[in-house]
Amino acid sequence: MNKTGAIGLKVTRFDYQKYEENFLAPYAVKSSQSRGRKHKEKEHEFRTAFQRDRDRIIHSTAFRRLEYKTQVFVNHEGDHYRTRLTHTLETSQIARTIGRALRLNEDLVEAIALAHDLGHGPFGHAGEWALSELMKNHGGFEHNVQTLRIVEELEDSYVDFPGLNLTFETLEGLKKHPERFYRRRAQRFRSLEADIVDLADEIAYSNHDLDDGLRSELLSEASLRDLHLWREAEKYIGNKYASFSSRTQKKRLTIRLMINRLATDVVEHSVKQIRRLGIRSLDDLQKTRPPVISLSDTGRRSLAELKRFLYQNLYQNYRVIRMTDKGQRFLKALFQIYLQKPEQLPPDALMRRKKEGIHRAICDYLAGMTDRFALDEYKRFFEPYERV
Ligand code: MG
Repeated sequence: MNKTGAIGLKVTRFDYQKYEENFLAPYAVKSSQSRGRKHKEKEHEFRTAFQRDRDRIIHSTAFRRLEYKTQVFVNHEGDHYRTRLTHTLETSQIARTIGRALRLNEDLVEAIALAHDLGHGPFGHAGEWALSELMKNHGGFEHNVQTLRIVEELEDSYVDFPGLNLTFETLEGLKKHPERFYRRRAQRFRSLEADIVDLADEIAYSNHDLDDGLRSELLSEASLRDLHLWREAEKYIGNKYASFSSRTQKKRLTIRLMINRLATDVVEHSVKQIRRLGIRSLDDLQKTRPPVISLSDTGRRSLAELKRFLYQNLYQNYRVIRMTDKGQRFLKALFQIYLQKPEQLPPDALMRRKKEGIHRAICDYLAGMTDRFALDEYKRFFEPYERV
């Protein structure tokens, strides 16, 4: 902004900060009030602190690896299924929409959303169970904790510090779920921006897993009629596009409408909660216990019903179990191979043995693998004619 108050051809960080202060809700997190980074850095000329966090996450190695990590369907099963990367992008999209509608800090929402699954190992939750079993007596494994390890320690692109040196607010937004892992590192700062990502994550995966389930024909359309959300959306689409005959497009329209209805419900119900709980500042929010970003009772019941349905009919489907169980076998075999002779690990991974112990060094190495890399590595060890 120039001296007359008009916006010039080039905007600076100060313009964005001013925009945040003038336009965002009083309980939104403002980048100008960030508590900063662990390792002090000069601020950027035209990016705010949270925009910079988001950019660092996108440029990280762990982010690129999401492309070849499983969501539900193992990568080589088909090109149209969601991967961790597309799941992450869909989560971010939904979360930003909700955040923007509630006048919250969209950049912070985006940074947290893009990083929220960085800690997933190969082969989705099955891979996580395998690693957590292998690490049972060595500090455990949990993907949210691993996300923090990646952004605080393991990413290795900067000269002046390990990890990505993200802001305090983004890091706090990534501290989730398992209390037992955070005894010393409980969340110290609550933001609605982080709460949005949690709910957007659930909305994203429930709907896109449903879509992938239909695409793979592991789920049938007829079985969905028991679901409140599907039934309502399908009825609406059926009436609105009565003369329209493409089944596939109707299916897609139905799922899009379901996402839209859930996201709208979150926005409307969260506004009511903000009012009801009298939240007027970030300080008020720190003292509030009940969920603020939340679905109405109907919305919550519908989403819970959908999740239950997916659990019983998709995640427990014998073909999905076969896919993921196969992945677990590779991970367990690789773990034992490295443990028996750690010198088989690449030098970078082996070096961490000194600081972390051999189990954690192997676990970090395995967790960083994509599905594809883990399968290739397995072949290198077991196929006699593979080059090592
Ligand atoms: Mg997720």
